[in-house]
Amino acid sequence: MITENIEIIMPETDAEEIPTQIIPELCRHYYNLGSITGGGGALAMKYDSKIYITPSGVEKEKIIGEDLLVADENGKLLKNATSNKNLKMSFIPNFMHIFKMRNAVAAIHTHSKAAILTTMLFDSTHFRITDLQNMKDIKNAVTGLNLKMKDTLSVPIIENEEEEDDIQVGLAEALRNNPETHAILIRKHGLYVWGKNWKETKLMLENFESIFEIANNMKLYRVNPMERKV
Ligand code: ZN
Repeated sequence: MITENIEIIMPETDAEEIPTQIIPELCRHYYNLGSITGGGGALAMKYDSKIYITPSGVEKEKIIGEDLLVADENGKLLKNATSNKNLKMSFIPNFMHIFKMRNAVAAIHTHSKAAILTTMLFDSTHFRITDLQNMKDIKNAVTGLNLKMKDTLSVPIIENEEEEDDIQVGLAEALRNNPETHAILIRKHGLYVWGKNWKETKLMLENFESIFEIANNMKLYRVNPMERKV
């Protein structure tokens, strides 16, 4: 529910940090990579005590700054997209849980093919892998330290729901029960990743998706993802 029609004024800052610039750029980037296509996937960034979120069900590669929804830190919508009044806002509850429960500053949701396949090949409540170089750019959310190859990377897998915002219950539970994770997989749907800024989030997302792709191939070739070589 929109309570007021406010104008969002951007303070002077590094252009790289302004959500209305960086979010459309990242949308195009992930569209070109095939992770955010067909209206699926979303990005959110906290900036100047406000949350900027992509609307759902739109062509993400064509999003511009004024398309972004703006909410306060409690998820109350401050500004709807000005370019299209029919845009949906189903991502807000999911992102709000991540921002509030993890004090995140940026979060990305993709429908990447590798992540979706992983949730089908790893048919349990968690994806687990060890002894992989790409793990070293993933952080432990409790310690803030990067994982080491001897560690186990564990990502919870929650079950999918009919509507995007129906995931919020399972998402909040997974956030509570898995304090060390920086990502949550949704069965046959995709992935949420978050971090203390958009660059950290982007870096971890790329590593997660690369790890999922490798793990899927390990399953194909009957290699145990938890087998250590060192
Ligand atoms: Zn989705």
